[in-house]
Amino acid sequence: MQHKTHALVIGGSLAGLLMGRVLANHFDRVTIVERDVYPDQPVPRKGVPHSRFPHTLMLRGQQIFEQLFPGLKAELIDRGAIELDSMQDLVFCTSAGLAARAPSGLMLLAFSRDLLDWSIRRRLAAFPEVQFLTKASVRGLLTNAEHTKIVGISLHRHEDSNIEVGENLYADLIVDASGKASRTPEWLEALGYQPPPETKVNAFVGYVAQIYQPPSNLSVDWKMMFMPSAPPHQRRGGAIFPIEGDESNPQQARWIVSLVGGDRDYPPTDEEGFLAFACSLPMPILVEAMRQAIPLTPPYAYYGNENRLRHYEQLSHSPARLIVVGHAACLLNPTYGQAMTVASLEAMIVDQFFQHHSIDDLDQQTHSLQKQLAKAHQEAWSTATGMDNRYHSTQGKPISASSRFVSWYWDQLMEIGINRASVHHTFLEVLHMLKPSISLFQPSILAQVLVHAFSKQWRRC
Ligand SMILES: Cc1cc2nc3c(=O)[nH]c(=O)nc-3n(C[C@H](O)[C@H](O)[C@H](O)COP(=O)(O)OP(=O)(O)OC[C@H]3O[C@@H](n4cnc5c(N)ncnc54)[C@H](O)[C@@H]3O)c2cc1C
Repeated sequence: MQHKTHALVIGGSLAGLLMGRVLANHFDRVTIVERDVYPDQPVPRKGVPHSRFPHTLMLRGQQIFEQLFPGLKAELIDRGAIELDSMQDLVFCTSAGLAARAPSGLMLLAFSRDLLDWSIRRRLAAFPEVQFLTKASVRGLLTNAEHTKIVGISLHRHEDSNIEVGENLYADLIVDASGKASRTPEWLEALGYQPPPETKVNAFVGYVAQIYQPPSNLSVDWKMMFMPSAPPHQRRGGAIFPIEGDESNPQQARWIVSLVGGDRDYPPTDEEGFLAFACSLPMPILVEAMRQAIPLTPPYAYYGNENRLRHYEQLSHSPARLIVVGHAACLLNPTYGQAMTVASLEAMIVDQFFQHHSIDDLDQQTHSLQKQLAKAHQEAWSTATGMDNRYHSTQGKPISASSRFVSWYWDQLMEIGINRASVHHTFLEVLHMLKPSISLFQPSILAQVLVHAFSKQWRRC
């Protein structure tokens, strides 16, 4: 009888779900192992506490999600997701003024992270190859006798609150998608391998969010607002991000108001302090909107927002048949909204790989696959660390000269985007990962940046 192929995914959040979806194209069986119980409704769960924060899905990610789950966009809109033009409907408050607004065709979909996860989980559960194993914590990796490849995982199943049952599961491929708290480095060490080298860049960014109900008669000409920090001088920022309404009225949008502060200037979590922090932002437009709305939840904090890259692709001696994806490999400061799109790019890389390789090729090719996966987060990593490098207290410097230049260049672009809609349009296409960042260096834009920078310098003299 022919061997039935099996892939195991550790962690059933966004990166794990996307991996599950593409692996179902190539394996007879896919098991997604998740330590939580999934809620029946689109509500937060323990393993993804960050779902209370705004989750921007960049347009490149939106395209891939739709490719993997046809009809997802229509379903999300039906359930109250808000479609908005990234230039026309978004007030982008730069440190130099408001960015140009005009119809752009860059249509963004805004929804809660809980709604996205719930919709994808339901769609994935309909795949006959996919099985969810919930209330199961992975505790280690299993190798073959020669220690050349990973052949399975050991896990604990929580039968009820008191009983835990140990179990081993075997598979042809193991994917670690267990997020920030991934323990693969320790598990590898326990098996006699080197852990991956790590790069960390920490700007001590604190992030606090609160859900509001805007008044139904609110009369504003925008749907979303974004006021990024502009360090080193302005280390505070904020945003208003629309999400679907509650279950009783999904079409009546709510807002997630989020505040951010770098250099340990963390926004407070009490209501009064949260409002005072919003008042301190350089433009009053955000707090004025907040004052018209009713808070529905307390403010929630997320303070551990460092960037951390685990270089699995650099390991000279690593076991075959194990790959690491999502935040487990590349943790990004979430305020730049890139990780879900990066996870979708990774899923496409794995899909492509198996279109050209058999599962047995994994014995020789796993490392090359991990190297390809590393390319998926390269640009996002440079952007996030380059931007974070502008804060005074950032640890993990020195950042490369090119990253420093890119963050300086982005600042100039945001300033130019106030008057030049075409520059802002290209800037947004790069932000949404539709175009590579090199597009921002085309001669016409480069010339405008240089003229802008020289004229600023001239005025100062
Ligand atoms: C505050 C915040 C805001 C964010 N905003 C954005 C945004 O605007 N746009 C964007 O694209 N991304 C955003 N992100 C990133 C995004 O939420 C995801 O974290 C990211 O996509 C990576 O997801 P992941 O699946 O790798 O990890 P996670 O979402 O962290 O999920 C890991 C999963 O693994 C499970 N798990 C962990 N260990 C085990 C184990 N041993 N056994 C079994 N299961 C295990 C956990 O229960 C969890 O379900 C934000 C993140 C944060 C923290």
